[in-house]
Amino acid sequence: MLEVDSASGTMITDTGGKQYYDLIAGIGVATVGHNNPAIKKAITGQLDKHAHVMVYGEYIQSSVNQLALSLSTLLPKQLNTSYFVNSGTEANEAAMKLAKRITGRNKIIAFRGGYHGNTQGSMSVSANEEKKSVYRPLIPGISFIRFNSIEDLETITSDIAAVIIEPIQGDAGVIIPSQEFITALRNKCSQTGTQLIFDEVQTGIGRTGKMFAFEHFNIIPDIITLAKGLGGGMPIGAFISSYENMQLLADNPMLGHITTFGGNPVSCASANAVLDIVSDAQFLDDVEKKGALFEELLVHQEIKTLRRIGLMIAIELENEEKVNNSIQQALQEGVITYWFLSTRNAFRISPPLTISYDEIKASCKILLSVLDRI
Ligand code: PLP
Repeated sequence: MLEVDSASGTMITDTGGKQYYDLIAGIGVATVGHNNPAIKKAITGQLDKHAHVMVYGEYIQSSVNQLALSLSTLLPKQLNTSYFVNSGTEANEAAMKLAKRITGRNKIIAFRGGYHGNTQGSMSVSANEEKKSVYRPLIPGISFIRFNSIEDLETITSDIAAVIIEPIQGDAGVIIPSQEFITALRNKCSQTGTQLIFDEVQTGIGRTGKMFAFEHFNIIPDIITLAKGLGGGMPIGAFISSYENMQLLADNPMLGHITTFGGNPVSCASANAVLDIVSDAQFLDDVEKKGALFEELLVHQEIKTLRRIGLMIAIELENEEKVNNSIQQALQEGVITYWFLSTRNAFRISPPLTISYDEIKASCKILLSVLDRI
């Protein structure tokens, strides 16, 4: 197992001094590269002022307010109110609680192949039965429908509180739905008064070549959740909806979601620096161009399919054994790729969005030579 000494940009150095191209970025976390000077400056600047001072929401703190403000500027006006938590799974837990408060309903629809986190509520709406069966009973009232099936949307009726969906399924191996499906989903949720929750934990913050993946589909969800890439390596998550909806968490009972470390000022300062970098239009254009370069270079007889949007990539091989061999041999040769949790015949690539074109060329050359030998 890799024993990390240091990391900078796209590279991780182990304790023996060996360098690796990090094509995973901590599973889509180190959005702007490891040890990014702007992130370090933001973190140390905040630490010079203060770190945690109180449980979330009790005091006004500038880095937290700034982050909420920046997100509301980047998002459509309905998504103007952010609540910061600690992780992706907590963001999804809270989003589902919010949907129950908005609708007064309790049933939730999720998708086969979906992954939303590992606490019991998020696990309840995640599909991988093997991972969850030993923890049953989980929360009741959940049903699963097929991703990208317009027909299955008929099950969304006016007693459903929420539909939770990854706009591009990550753990299922980068599955991109059709525009027709997403449009029909949005319409069905609007007709039935069902909250549409987009889990953008993996797809958000530039990963797909747009700031948020919902922008690819020309629709606006009711609630979105973020985490992973938002903090640039610091732990943070967020669930975001309209001010009116968020107010429902304020009373009756009061304090609808409580979290000690939520809105951590150091994590928020780091996230502010991430947004400054990623929200640049040229930066986002480059994400798509870099993804296209991976796609152009990774042509090999062992690769059955390459699924990609921006820098979110799945490489499908013939079987699990070849996937294992590729990941392990690539690591030995200085390139880090990684498994999907539930998709055994593919491996993933989700590098720092700051990866250079030369680093893409060099790491793909190694990957192709590994594929020659699996
Ligand atoms: N949602 C999606 C789409 C994810 O990919 C993940 C993590 O992989 C999560 C939620 C859970 O996030 P966390 O591990 O921060 O709880």
